[in-house]
Amino acid sequence: MSDTKDTPEKGKTLGLRGGGTETSHVRQSFSHGRTKSVTVERKRKRVVVPKSGAGGAGGTGGAVGRNLSDTERERRLRAVQAARAQEADRAEQMKAEEKAREEEMIRLRAEKEQAEREEREREIARQRKQDEEREKEAAAKAAATAPKAKAAKVEEAVDPAAAQAAASRVEAGKGPAKSTKTDKPQDDRNKQPKGGKAGDDRRRSGKLTITQATGEGGRQRSMAAMKRRQEREKRKMQGSNEPREKIIREVKIPEAIMVSELANRMAERVAAVVKALMQSGIMVTQNQSIDADTAELIVEEFGHKSVRVSDADVEQALQTPDDAPEDLQPRAPVITIMGHVDHGKTSLLDAIRKTNVVSGEAGGITQHIGAYQITTDGGAKLTFLDTPGHAAFTSMRARGAQVTDIVILVVAADDSVMPQTIEAIHHAKAAEVPIIVAINKIDKPGADPNKVRTELLQHEIVVEKMSGDVLDVEVSALSGTGIDTLLENIALQSELLELKANPDRPAEGAVIEAQLDVGRGPVATVLVQNGTLKRGDIFVVGEQWGKVRALINDQGERVEEAGPSVPVEVLGLNGTPEAGDVLNVVQEEAKAREIASYRAQAAKDKRAAAGAATTLDQLLAQKKASESTTELPIVVKADVQGSAEAIVQAMEKVGNEEVRVRVLHSGVGAITESDVTLAEASGAPIIGFNVRANAPARESANQKSVEIRYYSIIYDLVDDIRAAASGLLSAEIKETFIGYASIKEVFKVSGVGKVAGCVVTEGVARRSAGVRLLRDNVVIHEGKLKTLKRFKDEVAQVQGGQECGMAFENYEDIREGDVIEIFETEEIERTL
Ligand code: GDP
Repeated sequence: MSDTKDTPEKGKTLGLRGGGTETSHVRQSFSHGRTKSVTVERKRKRVVVPKSGAGGAGGTGGAVGRNLSDTERERRLRAVQAARAQEADRAEQMKAEEKAREEEMIRLRAEKEQAEREEREREIARQRKQDEEREKEAAAKAAATAPKAKAAKVEEAVDPAAAQAAASRVEAGKGPAKSTKTDKPQDDRNKQPKGGKAGDDRRRSGKLTITQATGEGGRQRSMAAMKRRQEREKRKMQGSNEPREKIIREVKIPEAIMVSELANRMAERVAAVVKALMQSGIMVTQNQSIDADTAELIVEEFGHKSVRVSDADVEQALQTPDDAPEDLQPRAPVITIMGHVDHGKTSLLDAIRKTNVVSGEAGGITQHIGAYQITTDGGAKLTFLDTPGHAAFTSMRARGAQVTDIVILVVAADDSVMPQTIEAIHHAKAAEVPIIVAINKIDKPGADPNKVRTELLQHEIVVEKMSGDVLDVEVSALSGTGIDTLLENIALQSELLELKANPDRPAEGAVIEAQLDVGRGPVATVLVQNGTLKRGDIFVVGEQWGKVRALINDQGERVEEAGPSVPVEVLGLNGTPEAGDVLNVVQEEAKAREIASYRAQAAKDKRAAAGAATTLDQLLAQKKASESTTELPIVVKADVQGSAEAIVQAMEKVGNEEVRVRVLHSGVGAITESDVTLAEASGAPIIGFNVRANAPARESANQKSVEIRYYSIIYDLVDDIRAAASGLLSAEIKETFIGYASIKEVFKVSGVGKVAGCVVTEGVARRSAGVRLLRDNVVIHEGKLKTLKRFKDEVAQVQGGQECGMAFENYEDIREGDVIEIFETEEIERTL
């Protein structure tokens, strides 16, 4: 390194005279053959400088380079002439050789005592004189090395040929002298491949020596070299420090991580990480997420240690020790009713409930909360999930909530086994849940229970009547026949299962149903699975958290607590969870918040990672294919969980290999500012299904040019999205919002019906326009206006800020506080 750095300097000096290529050649051979020699020369230079200083000190009075070297040069020029004279006289030459030898000795000594000499030279004038004399002599012989080169330099400038001749002559004189000193220069010379250029090279070597000796440029060089050396050292230090200082970090990798976050955790530059990813063929920006496997590779590539973290790690707080057997107490079984459509699932649930209501003392109002508990005549408690259907059952299971202990398979005796019956069997078997067969509609004339039993055999359901172990009961949900027997059988089956839980511990449960309730906020029906949920408990549920504000049982009563297998409505959530989400009571609010936000982030990252998993090849292919977007991101908000799920499922089916719809987020409730933010970030439109954007969200969407589209028919929505995804959107009828009116009062007018006394809060109200009735941003009704009155007169339009009377066609359920959305349809270019 240092050699290569030094050589260019020499090259520069040499370059004044020689060709570039030769220069480098000379340089190389120097560094090889005469490495030490060069070093020695340099040292000599230092020695010589003082010496010359000593020699020329008389003249210059110090070691000041330039003046000294000038005098030195003159002196040495003279020396060259002397050398020529010597050349003519061999005897003289011999003397010169001897002197050169002596000089060499002196030089060697000088090398060792350089510093001392410098001091001495400066301090003692006599010594200087002596040195001067010696130097003169030395210079005469030094001509063998340095002076001749200098001479050559000068001469060359005048007459290159003469210079060459001089040089060669000098060289001849120098040769023997040098050979006595060291073989290396000779080796060096020998190494010169081209005879013709040998002279040049020799000259060069000489020049080099003299320039070093004279110190002209030598000092500059050495200063610069020093600087460079320092820099190099610094760099080396830094360079060597980097790996030394590089802290090998333990990088926590969740299931999905944003590129910038990964870089942050590794303390590496984001650009470097993006580059590394690109080199792996993964085209991502810093704001995109990558999956854990990819992240792990990158972490290793950067020399860090990766630590995979799963939810379990972050949620360790939720882990509780297993209950001791003595703490466990029997709990009620949780039952789900499944079966083919119209085989009587709902009727059976009703019948069971009715039985209980009749036998129970309360009677009267019951409330649908998604689950209810009954007590059989035998005193056994049974919990029924009031959400029949496989989808609910399996989607909950998919979310990690195994809530069902027993499945009641309803098969209509007049219809026997049907496709969904088989599906239900598969679902139940997959969940490893015991089945009880309820052969329904036995009151019907065409009922054939045995046909059902036989057909079930084909699906590996061997009922008791067929000498199997699956309980079967003939019932009529309509007449109530066999219901009691069914319940007793369930109790029996549950005893066999020995279901137990520990009521004396923080509660764990599963969300059966959740919705954003008008007035009550987010409400979730939770089936407590273990422990006891109490009012005031702090909990985390899915991506949400909360503090139990109130617990309402299936009778609509407020309760203080709910034990294992008890379904309760929970109030006090910060957001709407999803069916199947698991609820855990935690000690501190901070912990609940932390876990909820971690989950929310993880879910977001996972969604983003799913969308960002595009390889370079794919990306290129996409780019080649067309300029249009190959992915249509959307944000979905719906009035109920079911609609949201249905839309998401439908959306997933839309698209082909080239285009796909990516649901960034789906949820229940009004479109909020955070939805708009999300949509804006991804350039996605927001789909509102029977919901509207609240005022801040509307404003924000307007500002950010985020498109919000409202639908109330799922097929319209799917058609639009499909069209958008396939790039086929054409000019079509589109509705445009023109105004909002808020209902201040509701009057009953004979002959007209209910009339809303409104004030137009935004835009205008138009008689001909379409209207929607919104209650808490949820669409209650859509239709036409029957009347639009300003004072007593029927008018075509009412301006914003004015009061008016409105009545709907064929719709009466209007309330104070409701909002009327006024829209018009027009033909417009679609932009979705
Ligand atoms: P689901 O689709 O499985 O929930 O079935 P439903 O409970 O809605 O019942 C479908 C139809 O069958 C309804 O018209 C019920 O009145 C009727 N149904 C249900 N159970 C019985 C029964 O035991 N006997 C008779 N005759 N009809 C029944």
